[in-house]
Amino acid sequence: MSRPCPCASSKTYDRCCGPFIEGAQAPATAEQLMRSRFSAYALGKVDYLIATRSADKRSSENREELVQYCKSVQCVGLKIVARQKGGPEDTEGIVTFHASLQANGRRSLHIETSTFAREDGRWVYVDGVVKG
Ligand SMILES: [Zn+2]
Repeated sequence: MSRPCPCASSKTYDRCCGPFIEGAQAPATAEQLMRSRFSAYALGKVDYLIATRSADKRSSENREELVQYCKSVQCVGLKIVARQKGGPEDTEGIVTFHASLQANGRRSLHIETSTFAREDGRWVYVDGVVKG
């Protein structure tokens, strides 16, 4: 399949977030994990969203709520506006992004600064601070 990746990278899904979401590859950077989680929201890949939460937060994820959220919200676009660390050699990373969402015919902008960490060598999403 050569559909465009939902994370708005202008790459195809198979060459961008696809291998991460399908489990073929692990993201090397915090930004790759962030992008792939956005794409997972766009595609309703709830298991990936749960699997990429940090261990201490994973049990608080409600699968059914995530499924409903993914159905009710369209992920229209993504822009990464800032990043700190999060590289292949780092163990922590911070990514600030603007996500364009649409729900019930209304557009909204979700602005979040997310913290990522490595657990057993893999990037996971720890927490985010939402602005506005
Ligand atoms: Zn992507």
